[in-house]
Order: sequence, then C-alpha cells, then structure tokens
Amino acid sequence: MKLTNSAASIIPQKDPFKHIEVVGRTCYKSEDKITEDSAYKFVKGLIKRKHFAMLEHFNVTFKINLCNWLDDVKQFALSNRYVEFDEYTEPTSGMTGAYVTVSLSHLIREDISGRLVQNVLWNCFIEHYYPNRIGDCWVEDEDAQIFKTYVQIVDDVEKEFMNPSNIYLDHKFLTFHFICDRGVSHELVRHRCSFAQESTRYCNYSDDKFGGEIVFINPSNLASWEPEAIYTFMDSLNTAEKAYMKLINVYHMTPQQARAVLPNALKTEVIMTANLRQWEHFFDLRSKGTTGAPHPDMKKVADEAYELYKSVIPNYLRSPVSD
Ligand SMILES: Cc1cc2nc3c(=O)[nH]c(=O)nc-3n(C[C@H](O)[C@H](O)[C@H](O)COP(=O)(O)OP(=O)(O)OC[C@H]3O[C@@H](n4cnc5c(N)ncnc54)[C@H](O)[C@@H]3O)c2cc1C
Repeated sequence: MKLTNSAASIIPQKDPFKHIEVVGRTCYKSEDKITEDSAYKFVKGLIKRKHFAMLEHFNVTFKINLCNWLDDVKQFALSNRYVEFDEYTEPTSGMTGAYVTVSLSHLIREDISGRLVQNVLWNCFIEHYYPNRIGDCWVEDEDAQIFKTYVQIVDDVEKEFMNPSNIYLDHKFLTFHFICDRGVSHELVRHRCSFAQESTRYCNYSDDKFGGEIVFINPSNLASWEPEAIYTFMDSLNTAEKAYMKLINVYHMTPQQARAVLPNALKTEVIMTANLRQWEHFFDLRSKGTTGAPHPDMKKVADEAYELYKSVIPNYLRSPVSD
C-alpha cells in the first residue's frame, strides 16, 4: 500500500473535446489512452451512450444580438437549471441582446433546448472550435445557417464583462481537480455542480496498472497523532488492502464487489466544474467555514483551491465579500 497527500489544481478549459476527454478518463483512470486525436472519438462515444454528465464540464458563452428567436433562447434558459442568461444593452449603440452560457451537455441535447436553439448554437460552436469538422457527423441545418448570423461565441468572458459586474460570476466557469480521500469526496459531491470521480467499480487496484497496490490519503493532521493511533490507522489500511486483493485474486470477485472493504481513507480523484458564484459559496463553506468548522482534510484542499482561485480570478471580478 502507498500513502499520498491530498491536493487541488485547476484544469484550464481550452479545447472542449480534449477537456472532456481528460474529465471522462479520470473515472476509469485511462488517461494513458489519450492521444493527439482520441478526444473526438471519446466525446462521440459519450454522446452515443447518453453519458451527458461528462459534457457538463465545458461551458460556452454565446452573445446573441436581438433577433426573433431570442425568446426561444430565453424560454430554454428559464426552463433549464444551470443555463445562465442575461440581457444586455450596448452603452454606445443601444443595441440589445443576451448572453447565454451553457455546457456542452445542453448544447448537444435537442430534447431540452429545442431544435432551433440547439441547431443554431451547436453549429456556431462547431464552426468556432472545429471548422474542419463541419458536416462531419453533425447535420448542418439550413435554418441554423441563417440564424447563426446573430450569434457569436465569447472567448474571453473576463474581457467581455470587463467592468465589475455580477454577471461575470455567473458566466465564468472553472474546473478543479482534487486528489482526496473518499470521505472528503462525499462532501464535495454534496454541492450542486458538475462532477466526475475515479470509479471504484471500474478501477481494479490489483492490476499492474495500479502497481498492484492501493493508495490511501495521509490525514492532514497525521503528524499530531499519537504513535499508537498512527499504528492502528496503518494496520487497518493494510488489512483492508489484503482483504481487497484476496477477494479479487483468490475468490475472483469483481472490483465493484471487492470495494466494499475499502475505507474512507482510500485515495480518489474528483473533477468539479462550477461557475464563480458557486465556487465562492463553496469556499465560504469549505475554506472559511461560515456554517461551521469544515473537516480539516476538506479544508486543506479547499484552502489550496481558494489560493489558486485568487491567483487566476482578479480581485475586482470576485464578489465583494469573497476575501
Ligand atoms: C460544516 C458543514 C457541516 C455539514 N454537515 C452536514 C450534515 O451533518 N449532514 C448533511 O446532510 N449535510 C451536511 N453538510 C452538507 C450541507 O448540508 C450541504 O449539502 C453542502 O454544504 C452543500 O451546500 P449548499 O447546498 O449550500 O451548496 P450547493 O449545493 O453548492 O448549492 C448552492 C446554492 O444553490 C441553491 N440551491 C441549490 N439547490 C437548491 C434547491 N433544490 N432548492 C433551493 N435552493 C437550492 C442554494 O442557495 C445553495 O446554497 C455540511 C456542510 C458543512 C459545510
């Protein structure tokens, strides 16, 4: 068995399909299968299997000039959670329209966004990110060609919402990668955001790929434990690892059955995507402890994430009470 420390890092949202591949492969710990052109096939596989949750981890902001289907977009935004919608008026020209931020999951699903909205936004997305893939498996719709003249993708959300503005907090999304124990991961997934987590159903820790051993997380305050307490802790992890390996290697049970003997100290990886407003709420609860003292292991990764957050989101764009 091996012990490691918990950690938090940011996964920048750059190429949509590559981003989603990294997120999706975390579940199976199959990152070794990533190649220069594997992302497209991977994402198509997710869509085919309707595994839309992974597609929630990439977000796109559209700026839509006033047009006769803006009401359709508004209706779509009002009737779906996690769609951000804000109307704007250009200060100089007086032009009106709306910003709408959606995840790729919304973008791919005609059943929730309606044929017109889905087609227009999806075509705009493909043309922006993958112009060489237009027509490749995705139907080009004649209406979409006409309507998309009203739409553009906002690449730089920060620049677009330059002035201190509340809507930046809603439209800007960030993806964090956490390495933590299963106890902390239970707390993370209570937040109503988007998640992907290393799967104890599919990962077989008896495989050579995992070095035939199980990784556990060092409790953040282990140094302050009494030696006997540390011995008891280590001994229980050893026993759990032996039992897991025996269930798989001797009794030919599957990882999803053998996992029942694994403790909360098991190392896991969690990818969490949310907008800035949700992240600031998360830091209030899990780093600053506004509702009560957070678990020290939760606080450790939340503090790390908060420091990273402050390093990438300028002070004037954060909410006024975020420090
Ligand atoms: C110190 C601490 C101790 C805790 N102890 C326990 C415990 O003993 N037992 C337990 O079960 N949980 C416990 N929790 C978890 C806690 O109850 C929340 O589930 C978790 O913190 C997520 O918070 P949230 O719902 O505010 O945030 P999010 O899920 O991130 O939601 C963000 C905000 O969206 C809004 N929202 C989302 N969904 C809805 C909805 N359906 N209706 C209305 N508004 C909504 C709310 O304003 C919410 O604050 C604890 C959390 C902390 C920090």
